[in-house]
Amino acid sequence: MKYDVIISGCGPVGATLAALLGSHGLNVLVLEKFETVFDKPRAIVLDWEIMRVLQICGIAHDLEPYTSPHTGTDFLGVEGQLIKQFDPLPPPYPLGWPATLMFVQPELERQLRARLMSLPSVDLKLGAGLDSFTQDEAGVTVAYSDMTTGEMRHATADYLVGCDGANSQIRDALEIGLTDLQFDEWWVVIDAWQMQDTPLPTKTTQYCWPSRPATYVVGPGTLRRWEIKIMPGETPDEFLDKAKLNAVWGTYVDTSAFDLWRSATYRFNARVADRWRDKRIFLAGDAMHQTPPFLGQGLCAGMRDAANLSWKLIRSKTHGVSDALLDTYQAERLPHVSTIIEHGKQFGLIIGELDEDEARKRDTDLRGQLLSGKMITSRQSFIPNLKTGVLHPDDPLAGTLMVQPKIIHEGKETLLDDVVGMNFLYVSTDAEAGSWADKHMETLTRLGVDQVSIGAGGYREIDTFLRDWATQNNVRAAFVRPDRYVYGGVASGDDFEARLTSLCAFLEC
Ligand SMILES: Cc1cc2nc3c(=O)[nH]c(=O)nc-3n(C[C@H](O)[C@H](O)[C@H](O)COP(=O)(O)OP(=O)(O)OC[C@H]3O[C@@H](n4cnc5c(N)ncnc54)[C@H](O)[C@@H]3O)c2cc1C
Repeated sequence: MKYDVIISGCGPVGATLAALLGSHGLNVLVLEKFETVFDKPRAIVLDWEIMRVLQICGIAHDLEPYTSPHTGTDFLGVEGQLIKQFDPLPPPYPLGWPATLMFVQPELERQLRARLMSLPSVDLKLGAGLDSFTQDEAGVTVAYSDMTTGEMRHATADYLVGCDGANSQIRDALEIGLTDLQFDEWWVVIDAWQMQDTPLPTKTTQYCWPSRPATYVVGPGTLRRWEIKIMPGETPDEFLDKAKLNAVWGTYVDTSAFDLWRSATYRFNARVADRWRDKRIFLAGDAMHQTPPFLGQGLCAGMRDAANLSWKLIRSKTHGVSDALLDTYQAERLPHVSTIIEHGKQFGLIIGELDEDEARKRDTDLRGQLLSGKMITSRQSFIPNLKTGVLHPDDPLAGTLMVQPKIIHEGKETLLDDVVGMNFLYVSTDAEAGSWADKHMETLTRLGVDQVSIGAGGYREIDTFLRDWATQNNVRAAFVRPDRYVYGGVASGDDFEARLTSLCAFLEC
């Protein structure tokens, strides 16, 4: 059987991509060389946008009990003084989820895998490692082997996606280069369960101490994390020794109040690939970009890759292949993730400064900005909008994230994305704005744009997010992309026509 897509790697990015494709009926083969999920401390922070992607995957509501809202971050200077703050947007939450959430990566991965196993069109092969691949005009062929028996198999597909992590074999085989954005530090990461009361900050805390920079993270439930810089003269291997680990950890807390769960050392890098596609082969996630974790964005960025690429691959299947559309994957994702990596690196440089004089100068500067109100303290301000790609030109709303109203559906309070599919949407907020679509129904159907009416004659909105959004932006409707970025705002019948015309051109109808 020829698959639509083969995915190499079932980390969070490969699993999300497979769930999105499989939910739309695409035949997907997922190869993962390990049987169990990687159980070391990695991602712990998620953005609301990513919960929305997981909502489309069908697991956000099951994951929610394992999450908690982020309590914000304080940065402490050399003398322990507050020098910087970095906080999630407070409620209410117009995207339907808390702006920033704490979670545990292996739990997310387990739920994603369970979802894949429930999708009839997804063939998940655990313990199966991709060995090699070829491509030609007809498709891609991969050779993979059973990691236990060594037995070799072959499979073919229209597309191959490498979600095979930072050491991507597919990226290397395609000779795709990574631009080094100049960050290279070793850190040790400790996850522990709090068993007893002990004095601790209520917020995540960056100890910007040249003597030993560290991050304290308030995880979900009683999970607490420390990320601690490995200093010049030390080696990562020294932290395999429990006594050494405990002594360093004890700088920040009374460790006897905790049950150590797990620890690992990592080399934090900032790197991004210069080519995200090679004909029938795409790459996503850590295979394409790596960022120091100080902004909590590596996995989030990979999930954005999955959401972006998935709707373009689904469209290739349902509406015919458009190479121009598939090429917008890199055009949209590369600048977006590059901005985020740069922010992550700058945060890392602030936290990790080892020169005490420089650190004291930093403290004076940052504290001045904080006290004067000039500092940008909102986490969400550091996540850019989409600036290029499938967006109506010169539209200030294009590329922003669409709000997600709560509506009444079948008598129950429901988030809109739980009701509508991962398609293009035309969302109107009043009957007249809905009627602008009337004479274009055939085009909308051909393009695969679903009409969603909220307000008179349509769904009843329970909160006021959509109404407020429309009023603030002076629009009455919007075209929304399958990944929930706004394609264009619509204030009038003329706006409707202009956006439909440009969308037709993008989607080559
Ligand atoms: C300490 C730390 C803290 C972090 N904190 C955050 C955070 O708070 N928020 C955030 O968003 N991100 C965070 N990250 C980043 C996040 O963990 C990664 O970005 C994310 O795991 C990348 O997912 P991925 O699926 O691209 O790659 P991976 O998770 O590395 O998965 C790749 C998969 O491919 C498989 N594979 C590789 N080669 C083959 C092959 N040949 N055949 C079959 N399978 C193969 C591997 O076994 C693996 O399962 C953190 C990272 C670290 C290290």
